[in-house]
Amino acid sequence: MSKRDYYEILGVNRDASEDEIKKAYRKLAMKHHPDRNPDNPAAEEKFKEAKEAYEILSDAQKRAAYDQYGHAGVDPQAGFGGGGGGQGFGNFADAFGGIFDEIFGGRGGGGGRSNIYRGADLRYNLEITLEQAAHGTETKIRIPTMEVCESCHGSGAKPGTQPTTCPTCGGSGQVRLQQGFFSIQQTCHKCHGTGRFISDPCNTCHGAGRVKQHKTLAVKIPAGVDEGDRIRLAGEGEHGVNGGPPGDLYVQIHLKPHAVFTRDHSDLHCEMPISFTTAALGGEIEIPTLDGAANIKIPAETQSGRIFRLRGKGIKGVRSHTHGDLLCHVVVETPVHLTERQKELLRELEEISKGNDGKHNPRAQSWMDKVRDFFAS
Ligand SMILES: [Zn+2]
Ligand SMILES: [Zn+2]
Repeated sequence: MSKRDYYEILGVNRDASEDEIKKAYRKLAMKHHPDRNPDNPAAEEKFKEAKEAYEILSDAQKRAAYDQYGHAGVDPQAGFGGGGGGQGFGNFADAFGGIFDEIFGGRGGGGGRSNIYRGADLRYNLEITLEQAAHGTETKIRIPTMEVCESCHGSGAKPGTQPTTCPTCGGSGQVRLQQGFFSIQQTCHKCHGTGRFISDPCNTCHGAGRVKQHKTLAVKIPAGVDEGDRIRLAGEGEHGVNGGPPGDLYVQIHLKPHAVFTRDHSDLHCEMPISFTTAALGGEIEIPTLDGAANIKIPAETQSGRIFRLRGKGIKGVRSHTHGDLLCHVVVETPVHLTERQKELLRELEEISKGNDGKHNPRAQSWMDKVRDFFAS
C-alpha cells in the first residue's frame, strides 16, 4: 500500500508555514481523535495518518528530508534520516506533546511525550499593610530555591567523574515496549528520562545536580493592589526539567487588618463614634485618612448610622484612574461612667423634654405608635 503525501493528508500547500501546518493538524486531530470517535477504525486511521504527517512536517529537518526524498527520507525503516535514533524521536514527541497539551488540556494520551518540562509555578504569600497597598511599596522576599550545585557544576557526578549514557535507554530517556500491534514509549525508569547515568554521585547534591538554597528577590508592589492580587515574577519559579524553561513565581497579596479602615475595592469605610452631645448640637471632628487628618462638620441632630462621604479619600486601584471615597459611619455613643451630678442633669433633661408630643424623639415616638397599633388590632 503506498503512503499518501503528507501535505495532502494535512490539506496544505508544499510551501505552508509552520503555523498553517499546526492549524491544519489541530483541526484534523480534533475531528478524528479516538476519544471523540469511539470504535471507529476509519477515524483512528485518519488520526494516526495526520499525526504522522504532522510529526514530520513540523520538524524543519525532517520536513527538508521529506521534501527531498519523500517517504524514504523520513521513514525510520528505510534507514534514512532519523540520525540519532531515539534522540530524533524525542524531538517529535516534544512537538507533539506541545500541541497535544493545547488541544486536550494536557491529558496526554497518544504519542510519546518528551521529558522536557517547564518548571512549576510557585506561590508566595505576602502580607502588607493597607497603607503599603494604597501607596505601593518595594519589599524583599526570601524564597527557597534549587540552585546549581557548585561541587559538580550541575552534572550530579562526583567531581572528576562524568555521567555516562544510560545503558537502559541508550541516552534517549525513553524506552519502547511492544504490546501486541502497538509500540508504546515510556520514560526510562533507570535514568528518569534524563538519558544519563551517574555511577558515582556528587556528595553535595547526591546526584541531583542542584542543592536547596535561599534567594532574596526584590518585589515591587504597585499602588492600589488589593487582597488576592498576584504579582508575577517571570522565571522565578521552579527550574525546568531537562533544560525546560523555569516556572513563574506569583506573589499573592494579603492585607493586614487595619485598626481604623476596612476596604471595599477602592472605597474605605470607618466607624466614626461621636458623643451624644455632638450628635445633638453639632460640631466638628477630626478623622484620619490615608493622606493625613481631615475635618468633618457634624450638623446638629445627626443620627447614628448616617454616612459622611469624603470624595477621593479612598484608594486608587491598580487599573483605575480615580480614587475611591472614604465613608465614615456615624455611631452615636451612649455616655458611660456617669457621675451622680451628670445623671441628675440627664434626668432633668428627660423631665423637661417629656410631654412635648415626642417631638425631640420622632423615631422613638413613631415606633411607639406602631407598637400601640399592633397591640390594639
Ligand atoms: Zn553536586
Ligand atoms: Zn535511561
